[in-house]
Amino acid sequence: MFEYAPAPESRSIVDIAPSYGLFINGSFDEGKATFKTVNPASEEVLSEVALAGPEDVDRAVAAARRAYEKWSALPGAERAKYLFRIARIIQERSRELAVLESLDNGKPIRESRDVDLPLVAAHFFYYAGWADKLSYAGFGPDPRPLGVAGQVIPWNFPMLMLAWKIAPALAAGNTVVLKPAETTPLSALFFADVCRQADLPPGVVNIVTGAGDTGRYLVEHPDVDKVAFTGSTEVGRQIARSVAGTGKRLTLELGGKAANIVFDDAPIDQAVEGIVNGIFFNQGHVCCAGSRLLVQESVAEELLASLKRRMATLRVGDPLDKNTDIGAINSAAQLARITELSEIGASEGAERWSPECSLPEKGFWFAPTIFTGVTQAHRIAREEIFGPVLSVLTFRTPDEAIEKANNTPYGLSAGIWSDKGSRILAVADQLRAGVIWANTFNKFDPTSPFGGYKESGYGREGGRHGLEAYLA
Ligand code: NAD
Repeated sequence: MFEYAPAPESRSIVDIAPSYGLFINGSFDEGKATFKTVNPASEEVLSEVALAGPEDVDRAVAAARRAYEKWSALPGAERAKYLFRIARIIQERSRELAVLESLDNGKPIRESRDVDLPLVAAHFFYYAGWADKLSYAGFGPDPRPLGVAGQVIPWNFPMLMLAWKIAPALAAGNTVVLKPAETTPLSALFFADVCRQADLPPGVVNIVTGAGDTGRYLVEHPDVDKVAFTGSTEVGRQIARSVAGTGKRLTLELGGKAANIVFDDAPIDQAVEGIVNGIFFNQGHVCCAGSRLLVQESVAEELLASLKRRMATLRVGDPLDKNTDIGAINSAAQLARITELSEIGASEGAERWSPECSLPEKGFWFAPTIFTGVTQAHRIAREEIFGPVLSVLTFRTPDEAIEKANNTPYGLSAGIWSDKGSRILAVADQLRAGVIWANTFNKFDPTSPFGGYKESGYGREGGRHGLEAYLA
């Protein structure tokens, strides 16, 4: 591989305060306890952030409740003005936000700049457009907001998950208390500042930082009307149990183990790009990642040779370098999980391969990895690894591909690669997955609903469907 000169994005564009409080009722206040958030590429402490306890969550929910009366009574066109304003401020400040997101999360700047941030702004623009058209959304002539939404998000797309949650909630007239993940709180706190800049009325958006306990206080709070959670299936289950019987509305966006199916008539080079994008985008920290490659036996050898050649060109390293393809793993805990599952894959007999690549000494890193000779009995074929690790299985007939693809407790996404439109439609029809990409992978659009079947959760985010979760 030829070398590129370093092309680092300047980190001085964004100011990170040494400490942050909780954003409640339009202003930041001190929490009693704090925790540190680190840059996973260097292990440097970026800031100290307040850890919200039950009383803090209580205050945030109370602020959202007070704001609800006026916010929900505003004409939709008025709410839209705020959302449009937020969308425009995000665009104006997107360079700052992209750098901040890459620093706190470890994702390559190329992705935060070209994928995450444009999609964040697009979500706010899209739902701003719905705010005054709710009666035409297909949910009856006079749909009503639900009240206070308690929203808990993960660390893999911190700002984008925030947008998926907050934009439809506000457009529909709800107020929100959002808890970002403990390893990536900074972009949500930046967003609090965006809300102030947009003159959003105090209490409409509240941000409480903390770990699992803070999330639990929020989803169990009796004055929350709607819970929206994105995260692991395990925590999703706990939340479903705690919300059951309370009358709260619930949407769960959980894990996945998507099949990316390549038929023998697929354009191989294009499929290889799709496979790489499917599993190595965002270090594989993607719920809908194409983590199981199902390739038709007759083209498996050719495809794998091509995939390995392509993987050898991936650049792993400094997330702020514009040439970087694969950044840092978000946390030591996640790195440990990826390492453990990969070791299990090898010990169960699958063949492990990574291109030669030197990893930085400090920080959390994992080389892009594929496992061949994987069978359905292997844990790496069944469990979500949530890292840059691909399990390769083969099939002979379309029926076998469908059966293997559906043989998972999850059902979030899938990919199909074939030259034949009729085959794509016939196979897509039989896959149990919420999102199916054909001859592409990991493409997102605010107009398109996203969500899963089975243990991938329920409810849809995005599109007109995404409004339904916030309307009665
Ligand atoms: P996680 O479930 O550990 O944490 C997610 C969030 O929940 C964090 O903010 C965490 O602090 C909070 N939390 C933890 N315990 C809680 C509890 N008992 N009550 C309330 N909140 C609690 O998951 P993670 O490791 O942060 O994220 C990775 C998971 O998220 C993966 O499984 C991935 O597939 C999934 N994910 C799904 C989607 C989707 O749209 N389906 C999108 C992104 C990530």
